[in-house]
Amino acid sequence: MASTNNLGKREVMKKDLKKASKYFDTCSFQLGEFRVISVLDGILHADYGSMLNGAPPQEAAALLRSRNLQINSPVDVPWTVFFIDTGKHKVLIDTGMSKTFVDFESASPDKVDSPVPSPRSKHVFISGHPVDCGHLLENLRYEDIKATEIDTIIITHAHADHIGGLVNPGTDTLAFPNARVIMWKEEWEFIMENPEVLSRLNTYDRGPVPEIVQLKYAQQCLTPIKDHLTLIDNEQTEILPGIRYRNAHGHSYMMCVEVTSGKEILLGFGDAAILPIQLEHPEWLYTTDLDKELAANTRKKLCEWALANNVLVASPHFPFPGLGHIERKEQGYLWQPVVFQ
Ligand SMILES: [Zn+2]
Repeated sequence: MASTNNLGKREVMKKDLKKASKYFDTCSFQLGEFRVISVLDGILHADYGSMLNGAPPQEAAALLRSRNLQINSPVDVPWTVFFIDTGKHKVLIDTGMSKTFVDFESASPDKVDSPVPSPRSKHVFISGHPVDCGHLLENLRYEDIKATEIDTIIITHAHADHIGGLVNPGTDTLAFPNARVIMWKEEWEFIMENPEVLSRLNTYDRGPVPEIVQLKYAQQCLTPIKDHLTLIDNEQTEILPGIRYRNAHGHSYMMCVEVTSGKEILLGFGDAAILPIQLEHPEWLYTTDLDKELAANTRKKLCEWALANNVLVASPHFPFPGLGHIERKEQGYLWQPVVFQ
């Protein structure tokens, strides 16, 4: 059922698109005075079991059964980047992963000094699932946006599928050479400066790849941006007029991005949830949350805030274009995707 609020239906400005592949996709719309585009970077081919692996197994199975799904049913998880043209600034929220990913399957702690992409890369993500990614730049070009025009990149958190696109594949050169990169100070310090980082990361259960490999990968992507970096430590700080961070700690020291133009608000959701059905049970823990209890509380808090303020949510891993509203359902919430006309 379509959302009944006035943001539930939006005009989509979509060019006559001959799709080169199913990964070639954008979706452009107006948010107040701002132009926003959902831009697909890639798709992870996963299964429900691994995405819901922190949930009580019987409850998760029952929820999936109600949708004619099983725990091992496949699910495609998009990696979507959100582009915003404010009129004065061209902004990205996160960067996808580029094609600069580790050949995770063959990665080992012995090779941590050079977790660079292998020419034989099997295109396998941290979780062990196949992935096709790195389509951000070509999809931006399709919208006539050059990488050199991007002047601000706002990072929600420093996981590979959000920061990998900062650098060109296999290099330490910047994919967006003229962009100021914004990060939350604690997230930067956690990944780049904290001697305890590895033991904290080792509490994850993300898959077969050692956390040290993933940490080195994140550090490789972040080190080249040092001279372009602005660290923020206050939610009230305006990153750009109408744009600021909103606390979403739990998954990591993650921050959501709140974008206001006119009477409309968009919330860049980051990884506050990975699948829409997670919203029905915000208390379910997700194994890649760094602080699982905090992440569950954060999920609830963000949903309540989005609901109270009739916010358009931009969720990078929800079905493309990742745009929708949160509605209440019993003890949890329901995802209502935007209907584009
Ligand atoms: Zn993610």
